[in-house]
Amino acid sequence: MRTKERRARIAIAGAGMGGAYLSRLLRKDGRDVDIFDVKSETKCGIAACGWAASKSFLEVVSGSGLAPEKYILQQSDHLVMDAIKLKADFMTVDKPRLIRDLLAGVKVRYGHLDMAQYDRIIDATGVARAYLPSVEDEVVSSCVQCRMQTDGVLENRVTTQSGGYTWCFRLSGHDYHVGWGSYLAESWKLIDQVRWLDDTRRTFGGHAVCRCTGNIRLTAPHYCRPFVTDGARDGVWGVGEAIGCVNPLGGDGLVYAMRSAQILIDYWDDPDAYTEAILEEFSWMTKARKVLDKVIRMNRFELSDARVLKDCLERMGVWIGIQQAATILMRFRRRH
Ligand SMILES: Cc1cc2nc3c(=O)[nH]c(=O)nc-3n(C[C@H](O)[C@H](O)[C@H](O)COP(=O)(O)OP(=O)(O)OC[C@H]3O[C@@H](n4cnc5c(N)ncnc54)[C@H](O)[C@@H]3O)c2cc1C
Repeated sequence: MRTKERRARIAIAGAGMGGAYLSRLLRKDGRDVDIFDVKSETKCGIAACGWAASKSFLEVVSGSGLAPEKYILQQSDHLVMDAIKLKADFMTVDKPRLIRDLLAGVKVRYGHLDMAQYDRIIDATGVARAYLPSVEDEVVSSCVQCRMQTDGVLENRVTTQSGGYTWCFRLSGHDYHVGWGSYLAESWKLIDQVRWLDDTRRTFGGHAVCRCTGNIRLTAPHYCRPFVTDGARDGVWGVGEAIGCVNPLGGDGLVYAMRSAQILIDYWDDPDAYTEAILEEFSWMTKARKVLDKVIRMNRFELSDARVLKDCLERMGVWIGIQQAATILMRFRRRH
């Protein structure tokens, strides 16, 4: 890390995936950091629950000095997508535990962040993007999620629906994370249509341990600029989902939040270079966002759009044929 002044006062707003990871990297580098969050009402104590990750999780967590294996709940070699069994290589991870360990020894502050007290503010507030200007061309998916305990064993599966998809990922034993996400305003309608939870309950028994709602920014970094603005002596710098580091066609953002924090460390004193590096690393998200726009606007797809979806799924650790990708795009778009 190049540094102008090692004693600069740094505040991170947001003790989620990116903020917790960044605070650990900074503390490892001998810096004092204050980290702020808002109280979460959820049972697990974190705002956006997220449990599925590709293999890149291992590398990025290693970069923090923690042992990634500790956070793996289940590894899977397949995923049932729209009733088709696909080869896969992904895992479910214990995100609450990882965040706790990244923040070990740190007292998260839940009070007001007085910007005047700090030289630099990091906006790691995820979808809230609380310290950076709002984004004009925004796409946000609303989600409902639920942790379930069942009597029977369920498959890891994803079912595409108009405007989004439902998922079910095994956490451990008979413990599952199930959810629904849609960019449509009436996401609850989709959930009613799917009747996934009721059907699962009827077939496999079990009960919901907890349930909450959340949003995911599907906008892509390209549309979330600026990443750095005035507001503190050394600026307000965004990281993670606050600057759109989420796969627009998948909604996965855990790995990318951590990866963007690594990039921020590399370009700590150079906002332009930071912006360039983020845009380059996540340029594939711009392509995915363009396909998502076609889905939303009901435009015609090209073969290249199916390739983009295929690429997005491979990044998530799921292998799919081009024809299947094209079919999924059509299902994704269809409205009832
Ligand atoms: C329902 C759901 C399921 C998901 N599932 C997956 C998944 O399976 N795999 C995957 O890779 N990704 C998943 N994601 C996406 C993933 O959780 C996020 O992209 C990732 O956590 C982003 O990290 P972040 O640090 O940028 O933001 P977050 O992890 O969201 O952290 C932001 C933090 O900022 C805090 N905050 C908000 N406002 C303020 C404020 N004003 N001041 C201070 N703090 C504030 C929040 O409380 C939170 O702790 C899911 C998201 C949702 C909503």
